[in-house]
Amino acid sequence: MSTFQELGLSQDLLNAITDLGFTKPSEVQEKAIPVLLDEERDLVALAQTGTGKTAAFGFPMLQKIDINSRTTQGLILSPTRELCLQITNELKLYGKYCKGLNVVAIYGGASITEQARQVKKGAQIIVATPGRMKDMINRNLVDISKIGYSVLDEADEMLNMGFYEDITDILSFTPDDKSTWLFSATMPKEVATIAKKFMYDPIEITVGNKNESTSQVSHEYYLVNARDRYQALKRLSDANPEIFSVVFCRTKRDTQKVAENLIEDGYSAGALHGDLSQNQRDLVMKSFRNRQIQTLVATDVAARGIDVDDITHVINYQLPDEPEIYTHRSGRTGRAGKTGISMVIVSKSEIRKIKSIERIIKKQFEKKDIPSGTDIVEVQLMALANKIHTTETNHEIDKHLESINELFADTNKDELIKKFFSVEFNRFYNYYQKSKDLTVSESRGSDRDGGGRDYGKSTNDTRYFINVGRKDGFDWMKLKDFLKEVLELGRDDVFKVDVKDSFSFFNTEKELQEKVLAFFTDYKHDSRFVNVEVSENRGRSGGGRRDRGRGRDDRRSGGRGRRSDNNPRGDRRSSGSGNRRDRRRSDDNRSDRHSNDRADRKFNDSRGDRRSSESSSSTSDRPRRSRRR
Ligand code: ADP
Ligand code: MG
Repeated sequence: MSTFQELGLSQDLLNAITDLGFTKPSEVQEKAIPVLLDEERDLVALAQTGTGKTAAFGFPMLQKIDINSRTTQGLILSPTRELCLQITNELKLYGKYCKGLNVVAIYGGASITEQARQVKKGAQIIVATPGRMKDMINRNLVDISKIGYSVLDEADEMLNMGFYEDITDILSFTPDDKSTWLFSATMPKEVATIAKKFMYDPIEITVGNKNESTSQVSHEYYLVNARDRYQALKRLSDANPEIFSVVFCRTKRDTQKVAENLIEDGYSAGALHGDLSQNQRDLVMKSFRNRQIQTLVATDVAARGIDVDDITHVINYQLPDEPEIYTHRSGRTGRAGKTGISMVIVSKSEIRKIKSIERIIKKQFEKKDIPSGTDIVEVQLMALANKIHTTETNHEIDKHLESINELFADTNKDELIKKFFSVEFNRFYNYYQKSKDLTVSESRGSDRDGGGRDYGKSTNDTRYFINVGRKDGFDWMKLKDFLKEVLELGRDDVFKVDVKDSFSFFNTEKELQEKVLAFFTDYKHDSRFVNVEVSENRGRSGGGRRDRGRGRDDRRSGGRGRRSDNNPRGDRRSSGSGNRRDRRRSDDNRSDRHSNDRADRKFNDSRGDRRSSESSSSTSDRPRRSRRR
């Protein structure tokens, strides 16, 4: 193990390294820096996120360029604006004693004129996203015809994001005799192609095994019913009071939704996805960095820029479509030598994906159970006790002490502690007191969208009969959307929907029975009463096939996300444009379907005898948490 001195770095750089508090080089730095300093060679380095790649190319580049010249000598391409800014900042720190150094960041979403002005002042190093870089080249705002060094940082990500053509275009404006240094976490075909095409006899460096995920990260999965996903997420967060996490969803819409739900439930959460403006994204990232946000919910694309140390947990709310992407997700934690946990909330239909990921990361997942209500209550109580124990006393209270003491004159210490704790603690206690076990055992039947549940045995569900069916323009999906909409239920609260010609069946949890029946006592649609009754049919006949089909549909539509809102039960919410869009859509559906001929309606107007009953309770049963600062 060498020191930074031994790598051959100049005193200016070594001084900066001391200021930064880096004590010894990381593996990729140890391997890359000496060769890059010594030789004018191309380089391909495979290293995970968080292994210190910026310094691995940054120090050699800073040492090799001529600071006294104002010519652009180094070009670093990176996939996102966030990364671009991070690299720029890091390089400025590394080069703080290099007088006259000018590093300029070039990225979309900001004034191109201002960036051009910065470049014109004489930027020895440009750090750019491919899109904006190409733009600037086309407008003759930069000159990269004399660069000596080009870096392709996070090459796999850039190619994933479709920058192949931009990159090749940009490189065609650079001289042939430059050196190219390519850094990537993984080595898919496309990266190998780029390496072949643009590099000559590169030095190859691999840190750790190829495609192996960071060693400080442990991997866990939690098997739950698909409809319990959101509850599971909350429990995982609640069981880790000090959590500082990134939650990954597959679609922008799910990302927005999950974040909104968490915020509504009192968590300090924020969303990061491509539908937000650059300004909104910057604000969210800033709050996350400052720890005002404890849980950042993000899409894969948006999260590429996340380069925050100390993330304790990565939670895969849904698994990515490509198992390779998992590596990028889990690499957000366990950075800079810290440990981290990557958790996957998985439903039974996806369990095989765990196996393919294990093959890629060459590590085993540990199967764990979603913490029980009792566990969480205990963890929260102890966290609270610790917090109180370590809180610095505010002596402003002293002057009120007498009156407070008076009030508690008859209360002994134990009693007082209990009362005091109850103030904060009751919320959790009340919520989790009657909570059920969310973990599913691997041997039970499939749970696709709640579809394959074993109705014969289940006592927690109610099966209903409803007097609308295919003739009314419903299929199982439309009926489910309709029910979920009018009853204001979450996606997974209605399941086992089985649509027949002129009537249908569906299930909810037994707890919702009262609400469902009450709602439909007097529900008229298109001047016709929609009637719902508890069915004697437990759902065994005919349902199986339909449900299997549904499972397939679900998987196919996974990426669209329109049926992936995970509203907790009984929750009324008005937020989210996605939500509203969905509503509009089902309204459309309804007007379509009700224009259908309804002549032969067997169960028409069999309106109920329950009409007198009052509207059911629909209050949310979730705990409100105090927002953390
Ligand atoms: P990568 O590009 O491989 O994802 P970064 O270059 O962003 O990793 O480095 C990750 C973090 O580790 C940064 O905060 C960086 O300042 C820090 N770091 C880099 N090199 C060292 C080192 N030798 N010792 C301690 N911390 C380091
Ligand atoms: Mg990096």
